Amino acid sequence: MKALVFDNGLSFRADWKKPVPAPGEALVRVTYAGVCATDLEITKGYMGFTGVPGHEFVGVIEEAADDRLEGKRVAAEINLGCGRCDYCKHKMENHCPARKVLGILGKDGAFAEYLTVPFKNLRPIPDSISDEEAVFIEPLAAAFEILEQVKVNEYTRAAVLGDGRLGQLVVQALATTDCSLLVIGRHEEKLALLKARGIPTRTSAEGLQKQLDLVVDCTGSPDGLSAALDIVRPAGTVILKTTVAQRPGADLNRVVIDEVTLLGSRCGPFAPAMQALEERRVDVKPLITKVFDIEQGVEAFGYAAQKGVLKVLLRV
Ligand SMILES: [Zn+2]
Ligand SMILES: [Zn+2]
Repeated sequence: MKALVFDNGLSFRADWKKPVPAPGEALVRVTYAGVCATDLEITKGYMGFTGVPGHEFVGVIEEAADDRLEGKRVAAEINLGCGRCDYCKHKMENHCPARKVLGILGKDGAFAEYLTVPFKNLRPIPDSISDEEAVFIEPLAAAFEILEQVKVNEYTRAAVLGDGRLGQLVVQALATTDCSLLVIGRHEEKLALLKARGIPTRTSAEGLQKQLDLVVDCTGSPDGLSAALDIVRPAGTVILKTTVAQRPGADLNRVVIDEVTLLGSRCGPFAPAMQALEERRVDVKPLITKVFDIEQGVEAFGYAAQKGVLKVLLRV
């Protein structure tokens, strides 16, 4: 089959071995897959991953033990727990120490014609969500994780730092609540997408010192935490949504003195993300910068890494 493979470099292969589903797995034919920051990091050696990357995708079940599932359009939760440990027993597969993660850790992903996925990870997609939109379910779920972790209501003054791929989705997820919301970014053209949705945007945090109840760092920058601590109010909450290669020299004494709650946030639940897409409370289509065929996958990665580019999709 056709696949994009990372092994000491990224290459397109036309003769990659088609995977065979293990018991409990379905064979899924990929329709579209999205390139995210994690994929770009993988090509720099992140997680030491080799094989087929790709974890944001939509596909069709081609082969399943239960043939009523065949032909169903699906997305998939990406953390594959061992099913036996205490985390897995408490529905926290995301934290299973023996987990595999589609296209990131120990399991081939979606930049290929086919991948195999455990049934319990598959989520059928309603007809009202298009293929291009469905690719965003996984990263949008990560954005909605914030609403699982903190209470957000009409009294919450929230700010998102960063107007990139994840920042855009986090802002849209927060905008489904009635909090007062503000985005601080560096790119006029990306902020314009949010402005068009009626969300106040800024290019600097000037005058916001210790004002916000909730600050979400989506900058992916070593300065993000420090910038968030500047504007969060005493007893407020800072959520770290992106990993960065080197952790910064942020002054953590401010966390102690101002009793700031610092929260990490990664993958999230698919259901609220799918519901928001279905109800048109979020709009991900403006975030698609370009679509490449899988044969042009290497070029697509290079394109996705450029400044100013939001989402790049691969069509399989
Ligand atoms: Zn991703
Ligand atoms: Zn486990």
